[in-house]
Amino acid sequence: MPSLTTLSSPAHYVQGEGAMSLLGRHLSPIGSAPLLVADDVVWGLTGEVIEQSLSGADLPVARVGFGRFTTVAAVDDLVATIGSGGHDVIVGLGGGSAIDAAKAAGHLAGIRWASVPTAASSDAPTSALSVIYTDDGAFLEYRFFPHNPDLVLIDTQIVADAPAQFLVAGIGDALATWLEARATVRGTGTTMAGGRPTRAGTALARLSWELLWDNALPALDAVRSHVVTPALEAVVEANTLLSGLGFESGGLAAAHAIHNGLTAAPPTHGLSHGQKVNIGSITQLVLEGAPTAEIEDFIEFTTRVGLPNSLTEVGLGPDDIDLLQTVAETAAADGETIHNMPFPVTVDAVVAALTAIEPISRRVRRERGLSEPTPYEAPA
Ligand SMILES: [Zn+2]
Repeated sequence: MPSLTTLSSPAHYVQGEGAMSLLGRHLSPIGSAPLLVADDVVWGLTGEVIEQSLSGADLPVARVGFGRFTTVAAVDDLVATIGSGGHDVIVGLGGGSAIDAAKAAGHLAGIRWASVPTAASSDAPTSALSVIYTDDGAFLEYRFFPHNPDLVLIDTQIVADAPAQFLVAGIGDALATWLEARATVRGTGTTMAGGRPTRAGTALARLSWELLWDNALPALDAVRSHVVTPALEAVVEANTLLSGLGFESGGLAAAHAIHNGLTAAPPTHGLSHGQKVNIGSITQLVLEGAPTAEIEDFIEFTTRVGLPNSLTEVGLGPDDIDLLQTVAETAAADGETIHNMPFPVTVDAVVAALTAIEPISRRVRRERGLSEPTPYEAPA
């Protein structure tokens, strides 16, 4: 097999204040009978603007609700709805779950698909893959598609009106992108796009990291005041476009594999993807022996952002030996992206790194005058 480099991207990306009012105009070249996938909360916030926008473009409005997780059954239900309604494009509207379900259903049904996130809470919208979960929210599998969405559209005023914790989660997901792309390019593994990283994929991952360090804190201030500022625009682009292209074409490594491992530990249920990914990031930094200053700065920055960087904050502790073992075994399973690290990774090494983040986080936060980790309790 020749060693190829690849880049995968959506056909069209649209971001800005009020962008939702242009959804009809951007959808009409893609299809004439869209199916919108949105839960009742998302539809309550966006339905009116979308109905106006679609009727302005002579498109019919058809919407189905959506549950909590992207499960096999949820995807199959959408495929049935596409068939019975004669739809030719499916639009995932809301958070990562509805978007991933729409992509997977569009692929199975053989129609086109678009992502319309209502928060910058993950980098799911741009990619040509979906993550499928069990009914309990445990990681089941990645599904890969032959192409990316035809359209990704994100309205930054809607992001500014969403709860700040969504943006925090997206920052956690996006901070991992550079750490994982950096590890992948140092090693010999392949990216989700199916080859070695392109220089473009690696550079976009790095740009995402730089924008976040400069803009994450003022962007969170803006969201708490429900206003759109250049800092928020930068973070939305970093979380959605740059992290999306960067993870898919720059490579995933330990951080996302450890996230997948954490989904197998019930005490972490109820935490967002980005919160668990951040535990993956700090654990990867320890696992790879990153410079102490880099680890300490990462702990300070993510504490200020409001992301967990200790076991306590995800409902675990260094004494939960069996659970940490399960997390590490899941993270280091055959085929997991942890094997993109530029050195062999063992289950024991992952357990050691997970155990070590607790005292490191506590010490750094104490030394730098930051809050102590608050214990997390999963919802019953
Ligand atoms: Zn992610």
